Amino acid sequence: MPITSDACNGPCNHAARNAWNAYDQATLAHANAIQAWLAQPGDDRGPHPAPPEQPTLPIHHGDPVWDHRCARLIRAALHEIDDTAALLAAGVDGHRGGTRSGLNGIAAPSHVSIIDTLDELYGALTLVEDQWREVRHYPPRPRRARGSHARTLAIGWLLGELDDILLHPGSVQFGLDVLAWQRRLRAMTKSDPANTMSPIRCPRCTERQVRRKDDGYYECACGRLLNQTEHDAEYTRQADEHAQVSA
Ligand SMILES: [Zn+2]
Ligand SMILES: [Zn+2]
Repeated sequence: MPITSDACNGPCNHAARNAWNAYDQATLAHANAIQAWLAQPGDDRGPHPAPPEQPTLPIHHGDPVWDHRCARLIRAALHEIDDTAALLAAGVDGHRGGTRSGLNGIAAPSHVSIIDTLDELYGALTLVEDQWREVRHYPPRPRRARGSHARTLAIGWLLGELDDILLHPGSVQFGLDVLAWQRRLRAMTKSDPANTMSPIRCPRCTERQVRRKDDGYYECACGRLLNQTEHDAEYTRQADEHAQVSA
């Protein structure tokens, strides 16, 4: 059965969407092949071009926009964005005060991109907050000074409204954007060489104070050491846990 408008818009149907797109392309190619085949004189024709097979991947239905699993993923991603953004901001702030920073606290170039990204994130979050306030006839968003606290407030507000937002047909772009922001911020915490803080909680003391060292190991302030493999396994485990807790 092809993808219909009641299919979940989330990643659960990602493979099915790709399969159906490929099928559509193959169907087009098959129609052309049939035309070419018919144009040939009968005796020269090879075997009749075989039509492509329809994808058989199951389609998950939205309820009505997202299925429960993808709604949970979006909620977990929004939580994670708050944590990761705070971590990136803390990295910039910590670096500013440190001796390796630029002149008189001027942000290093890699930090400019973090600051810009967090600014863009804040703009995207509050845009949705404003739109949703309008949809629901809520009072307008209170004036907040931009910064980590304002971002946390905006995310907290959205999390409080999230169940209802995700039932709205207009939430498709928002949900996909949240997942995209999650990937983007994750990539930033990994790729920023100046930011040595890891987003994981230490498996020993459970604090978020694990840093990447120059030798490729990770070390917590409590002294616990992790190699890259252990660190990544811990990262995945905690992300899964996070998704379950916020489910
Ligand atoms: Zn889904
Ligand atoms: Zn520790």
